[in-house]
Amino acid sequence: MKTNLPEAINKAAEILSRAKSVVIFTGAGMSAESGIATFRDPGGLWDRFDPEEVGTAEGIMSFLSEGGDKIREIIREVVESFGAARPNAGHLALAELEKMGLIRSVITQNIDNLHREAGNTKVFEVHGNLFRFRCLNCEKKFFVDREDLLGRLRDIAQGAGPLSLEGILERIPRCACGGVSRPDVVMFGESVQELDESIFEAHQSDVMLVLGTSGAVYPAAMVPQQARKAGAILIEVNPTEKVFAAENDVYIREKAAIAMPLIVEELKKKKRK
Ligand code: NAD
Repeated sequence: MKTNLPEAINKAAEILSRAKSVVIFTGAGMSAESGIATFRDPGGLWDRFDPEEVGTAEGIMSFLSEGGDKIREIIREVVESFGAARPNAGHLALAELEKMGLIRSVITQNIDNLHREAGNTKVFEVHGNLFRFRCLNCEKKFFVDREDLLGRLRDIAQGAGPLSLEGILERIPRCACGGVSRPDVVMFGESVQELDESIFEAHQSDVMLVLGTSGAVYPAAMVPQQARKAGAILIEVNPTEKVFAAENDVYIREKAAIAMPLIVEELKKKKRK
């Protein structure tokens, strides 16, 4: 049966208002309205670069050996999209749900730090965070200011002449111990982060809100599956495809940045009644 938008929003709000433990699971679609292209939607960075090539140490080394032009182009695109990115209405609605005491945690596949910037405090980032660095010497992790990091990357992107690994390392933040650090993001072939914690959260949820993911990247895609296995109802928001929602779940065919504020509005109305 086809459900229209107001009906689906209302149903989602009804379920959320009665839920005991709501966990959020997000993917790249969550940040589309912040100007960061998703993996699978056309027109983004990933139409021109093979992520399995760009997203591995071997791929980066081979680009560098060619003089670094491709790396410069990739860094330029990252600076452009991540530099302008701010939390959108969907992120802000999730932060508001936390303030209303309605959500337990956020699990995200995104590396853009936007859930934290919006105000969510319990965030699990299975693919890491571009604005967090990890020391290769002492393993300590530290956050880097968005503008500071993007300024450093802009320098690399705009530089002239051959680009070397040393040239990049010189510009990225050093750990307090003096060690070289790297962005704490999960590259292809590396282990995901906080997966056990995310699965635990999924098992604790009675409702999981699934926003903007194709469910194609494993093991992250196990998280909503585990929530369902533990008996949770899923509320899925995605403007183009239904990936996880089954018969007794709710599917909202809409952008996260539009649907989430509508859900929050509906929840507030229910609270006032
Ligand atoms: P994906 O690109 O595979 O799928 C995006 C999904 O979002 C699609 O199902 C699409 O229909 C949906 N979508 C598109 N616009 C939307 C919108 N406005 N609102 C809601 N949904 C929308 O993304 P994925 O499943 O997260 O997997 C890709 C991986 O790439 C992630 O694991 C992530 O690590 C990485 N990635 C991260 C970012 C980021 O940090 N913002 C951006 C691109 C890719």
